[in-house]
Amino acid sequence: MGKIPNTNILVDKFRVGRYRKHTFVYFLSHFHSDHYCELSEHWNFGIIYMTHETRQLCVNKFPNLADCTVALELDVPCMIFLDKDNTEAIQVTLIDANHCPGSCMMLFEGKMGTILHTGDFRFSPKFFENEKLFPPMNYNEEEKGIACDIDHLICDGTFSEDDKIFESQEVAYNHILGIVKKHQDYRIYLFAYQLGKEEIFISLAKHFKTKIVLTPERYKTIELIGMDTQYFTTDETEGWIFVRHFIQRRKMDIEEYSIMGPTIFIVLTGKAEFVGATKKYIYNGKYSSHCDSKEMERFIKAICPRTLEFHSHPDTDKSRKFRGYLQRTYCRGNPSSCKQLESKLVDLHAKVIEKEFGDISTDFTKIARPPAMRKRKRHRASGAKLIHKKPIMTLTDDEEDENTADSNKNIPKVEIQKDDSEEDIDDLFNSDEDNLFKKPTEDVSKPNKRQKLC
Ligand SMILES: [Zn+2]
Repeated sequence: MGKIPNTNILVDKFRVGRYRKHTFVYFLSHFHSDHYCELSEHWNFGIIYMTHETRQLCVNKFPNLADCTVALELDVPCMIFLDKDNTEAIQVTLIDANHCPGSCMMLFEGKMGTILHTGDFRFSPKFFENEKLFPPMNYNEEEKGIACDIDHLICDGTFSEDDKIFESQEVAYNHILGIVKKHQDYRIYLFAYQLGKEEIFISLAKHFKTKIVLTPERYKTIELIGMDTQYFTTDETEGWIFVRHFIQRRKMDIEEYSIMGPTIFIVLTGKAEFVGATKKYIYNGKYSSHCDSKEMERFIKAICPRTLEFHSHPDTDKSRKFRGYLQRTYCRGNPSSCKQLESKLVDLHAKVIEKEFGDISTDFTKIARPPAMRKRKRHRASGAKLIHKKPIMTLTDDEEDENTADSNKNIPKVEIQKDDSEEDIDDLFNSDEDNLFKKPTEDVSKPNKRQKLC
């Protein structure tokens, strides 16, 4: 979630504050609410790229977004333009993230280097079969550095603590199957998020030759993503395996349900805190849609990026220690190679701003802050550190009108919504990811040769 370094691309980030006069291009990695929560029916600030399944779900929830959402095929490299004049382009390839239907990783290639954003993902050895990400010529027995030449990796760090170890999805499924086999005379409630883990439901339906009972909302989701509905029903008399949202689990008392007949609950998650297995008849499905720490390490080792950052990581000492270990062990980005690299990269964000808003210096330090920004006092919690912010250019009203006139062009159009806080956009400019690559000094294409691995 955030900005792709040196570009005007935002992933799973849709509120850009009052300075959204800048042009941004958006990506939605998958349709889980913590990733699309900044979208709304009235959102109208550019183009959002995503997979077909995600677009189906997105447009179903927000019909007004039909015109600004674009579906891209998995594994098909696509050129997308970042600016109004369609002169700054990058290539993007969406890759199945094995997280939920429609989820994808995003491989960006351009003057800013090659950047992989995993979105939420669960590693699978099948990833190595993706020839775009893992060219067969790079294969080695140790599985180290076998990816294409990734400059920067933004990795899902949900379980980035070294003691977070899960069973594989296959083992976890067999565990669930075993529980269900022992309780075939029971009513079985499976708890999961609104989207994801459908493969478990279908496997159980096939194994026990029964229909899985869904809520109407979940059934609609199955229809929208194009899954086979023959395994599902909304009629509670047609099956004995029910699927409910995690949120409903909190309101459902196993004791009360057991009065109506023998019942068990199975919570489908890798998160220990959701186990709830302190009560009889409540089981942990141990089935996670995110990597455990070992899988995360295996994936990062295989990518061997120059630089590495994490999104969605816990803010704990254990996580910090583990992430630091991964960065020290598997990144090729020693100080000298980073310096060498940064002089060859181009800040596409700066270039787009220059094109969109006139002949200005791309040296941000020379752009004056608008008076309104300088005068405005910021309220901070006492003791909070004041971080220097890069000045951001704004448009005059006339320039805004010009932009409006161009709205029929096939490019992202960014408009202003005055009620948003400026903190959001400032966060983007102050984030670590934005500082990973400094502003380039020359326009040189990306190096082709991979450096010797450490
Ligand atoms: Zn997710």
